[in-house]
Formats: sequence, structure tokens, C-alpha cells
Amino acid sequence: MKFIFITGGVMSGLGKGITAASVGRILKNRGYAVTAVKIDPYLNIDAGTMNPGQHGEVFVLSDGSEVDLDLGNYERFLDIDLTSAHNITTGKVYRSVIEKERRGDFLGETVQIIPHITDEIKSCIRTAATRQIPGQPPAEICLVEIGGTVGDIESMPFLEAVRQMRGELPPQDTVIIHVTLIPEDTMGDLKTKPTQHSVKALRELGLHADIIVGRSERPIGTHTKRKISAFCDLPINCVISAATVPDIYQVPMELEKEGLADALTEHLGLGKRPADTEWYRIVSREYTHRVSVAIVSKYGIEDVYLSIKEALKHAGRSLSTEVVITWLDAERYEQRQLSDFDGILVPGGFGKRGIEGKIGAISWARMNRTPFLGLCLGFQMAVVEYARTVLGWEDATSAEIGEGRHVIAILPEQQEVTGLGGTMRLGDALITLKSGTLAERIYGKREITERHRHRYEVNPRFIPDLEKAGLVFSGFSGNRMEVLELPDHPFFLATQFHPEFRSRPTRPSPPFLGFVRACAAKNGKPAVGEVKK
Ligand code: GLN
Repeated sequence: MKFIFITGGVMSGLGKGITAASVGRILKNRGYAVTAVKIDPYLNIDAGTMNPGQHGEVFVLSDGSEVDLDLGNYERFLDIDLTSAHNITTGKVYRSVIEKERRGDFLGETVQIIPHITDEIKSCIRTAATRQIPGQPPAEICLVEIGGTVGDIESMPFLEAVRQMRGELPPQDTVIIHVTLIPEDTMGDLKTKPTQHSVKALRELGLHADIIVGRSERPIGTHTKRKISAFCDLPINCVISAATVPDIYQVPMELEKEGLADALTEHLGLGKRPADTEWYRIVSREYTHRVSVAIVSKYGIEDVYLSIKEALKHAGRSLSTEVVITWLDAERYEQRQLSDFDGILVPGGFGKRGIEGKIGAISWARMNRTPFLGLCLGFQMAVVEYARTVLGWEDATSAEIGEGRHVIAILPEQQEVTGLGGTMRLGDALITLKSGTLAERIYGKREITERHRHRYEVNPRFIPDLEKAGLVFSGFSGNRMEVLELPDHPFFLATQFHPEFRSRPTRPSPPFLGFVRACAAKNGKPAVGEVKK
């Protein structure tokens, strides 16, 4: 097993996760079996209780763990299904060590950060690296991304664990890629000083950056590379320029052009292999059409709905259609804005802020025959909207929102739940689709597996009334409603599950594919670059 450690320098938000995922893709294209681990140095056990507005989307894995959004990037770039073991947090590490201490496993010892916490970290990394991934051969290479920036107090034990691993393993079995910022000064010159300082900080911890990936707005030229090479003590071919590109799926190709694959395989003592370029072909397919989609939600930050944004892109690419997304603030948008779009998407969410705006948008899409895709809370609000408008139940609402007729009720098993961490209905569930429905048509089969994250469901008491009024429930897991649709509408589909988490660039999610296709059909948009007469 070879380990590629990815550290961050200068500041956060440089795209370390995308770099890690891209490195994985480059190696996978050469036939290596790759797995990936994300280390988050915060004290939370997992990302499930964190505000997505601050930390970005909570990604949900097949096994139901709620993890950092970078695991979504790994799954999308590497086309693998990860597990909770692949997201290590300070919270998990300390919990395990403290549990062992209470059990008496360390009887007589003073339990300390070194060696007990660092041993635990190393063991977590090894467990994750060797964890069997369904449908994949055993991994030969493990990417380990260390969240945060070198120099942060909270990432120290993790970097110390990396230092120890480097000492324990043969030199060709580990490599450190340091992802850093190369800013421009007011004269437009690229500056290497912040990188020199962060490499120095790494050195103080006993770590040497073998490869530096420099993030900048424009490509880093030879002059700057030479400077980094001299000051940071590494050959010039190990200084890789990673200028910002319009689409994240171009990053592996750009890194490939910079010679990262050769630098890496040389370090790791792996022979040269030709790269399979099929993945590149799929992700860089030309757009000939364009559609515009509104996402009506309370958060306007792109990272909050990262998987939805990517799933729309995957579906769009496969239809040669660029999906232009506009975020409409559910509390503030005006109804007249809705007619500007080819489709309306209401994503998942929690709490009542912005809820009337979401319901209003669903109502508008239903009545104006505009393609609509509802996800989780969007599915629940489609039920509320139908009950209010079609059945005339003005007091219809969700138990999560307030008093009234609860067409959306708490899941029975959720009534006993006490804590909030990891207690929702989470992860994979098997769903049966009704034959002859839109759901069955878009999936092309009757049995599907999709991921969940919710506490509420369609109240079984009101299903007969809703169905009698024309709402079609077309997917079920047991007696739980999972998909709804309207037969006399161009495309009105909503799911209790989150199809966005399983979408991959090479395998777009069926509900997204159906939705984008319907958006394109609604508005035979001109090919990009063409002038509309
Ligand atoms: N808040 C809703 C529930 O808990 C929807 C959850 C979601 O959209 N992820 O059921």
C-alpha cells in the first residue's frame, strides 16, 4: 500500500479536495486501485450536526454516515462508494481513545497525544486504506487529505502521525503533496513567499513537501517554478501549476499536462503506464444547448448544494446541454422571476425559514407546466402544496413546520430518538417503483437503491385522499412514500431520497437526467453561441 498525503498551505478553500480527487483520477486512469481518506481536524464526530451555510453540504454515504463534502468529490472523481471509516475526525479519534482508557486498555499508563492519539490516527488511516470497497479490487494507493492548513493547532497530531508513518514505511511508499496559494501582487506578479513560509512550517514538523501544487489565477511560469524549486528544496518537475479552470472536472487533465503523473509515479517507484483517456472524453463533452434552472432555497452559497450542482452538470454533459443555475432566495424572490427558467428545483432542507417561498415555487411550476424536481424537503413541500391547493386543505403543513393538518409527519421510529447526531433515517434503502410511471421510465427498472437523510415522511393517514385527488406516489420502500409525480404535467417529480449523492460524471442520476431533458424540451434553446431570432 502506498500513501499519498495531501496537506494545505497558506489558507483554506484552495481546492485541496479537488486536487486530491484529481490525483486519484490520474492514477485510476493508469489502472491503479485507489481509495481516499479525508481527515477533518474538528471535534465533531461527523459533519451531520454542522451548519451547511458555514461548512458546506453534509454528504451522505451509502452506509448512512454524514460526512464532509470532499468525500462526495472523491466518490464522483474515483467512481467508488466510501464508508464512514474514510472520514476521520478529531472527535472520532478522541472518542475511541477515551473509550479504551475507560475500559482499562491502557491500565497503568498516562494516556497522551503522543503516542496514544497518534497511534489511533495511524490505525484509523490503515483501517480506512484497507477497507474493502464494494465492487473494487483491494486498494494499492490511498490518498489521505489532511483538512485545514499547516500550522493550525488542531491538525498537529495528524501531521505528527504522518511524520511517524513516513519513518515507519519505505521511502517510496509515501509522498507528500503540498497544495498552496501563489497569489498575485498589485503589479500582477506571482509571489512565492507565502509558499516558502508554509513549506518552512511543514519542515518544522519534520515533513518535507515532495510535490508542490501551486494554486493561482493564471498558470505559473518557469521563472516562478524555479524559485519555488530552489527555496522549497524540490526538483522543478515537482512544482505543479494548478491555475483556476472553469470546471472542476478539467483539473485532472490540467495536472496531467503539468506532468504530475510522472512526478508521482517516479516518487512512488511505480513504472510508467499509459493513461486511459475515456473519462476525460466524457467530462469534456461539448455543449450544444443550454437550459436555465432555478434552485429555490434558503441558502445561496454554492457549496451547500454542491452535489445537486454536480448532478445537474453530469446530466447536462451527457445531453450536451449546459445547465445554468440561478439561486433564488426562498424568502425574497418574486414570482415573476420564475418564468425566466426552464426548470425549478426545490432541494432538501430543515426548519421553516423560507418554507412558504418554496411551496409557492412548487405551486407555480405545477400550474405553469414548468419542469419541477423536488428533493427530500422539496418532496415533502410538494405534498403540502398539493394538499393545500388541490384538496383545499388550507391548514396542510409538515409537523416540522408547525400546527395544522400534518400531511407530513414524523417517522414513527424517530419519536424515540433523543440525540441529534447520526439519528435521522440515513443512507441506502431499497425502493420499488410502480410500473407504468415516469419514475420507472427514467430509471428503466423497478428496483432502485438511493440514499436518505430525513426525520419526516408522508403521513400514511392522508395518502388515500392525496391519491384520489390525482397525486401519484410512484416509489415506495416498505409502506413509506419515496417518489411522487403528476401524470398530466411535462415533468413533475419529487423524491424523499437524495439522488444527487449517487450521481457520477460517467453515470448521471436518472431523476436529474429526466429533469434536464424536460427543461431542454420545454424550451428548445439555441445551441451555445447561436443568436436566437
Ligand atoms: N427536514 C426534512 C426531514 O427531516 C427534510 C430533510 C431533508 O431535506 N434532507 O424529513
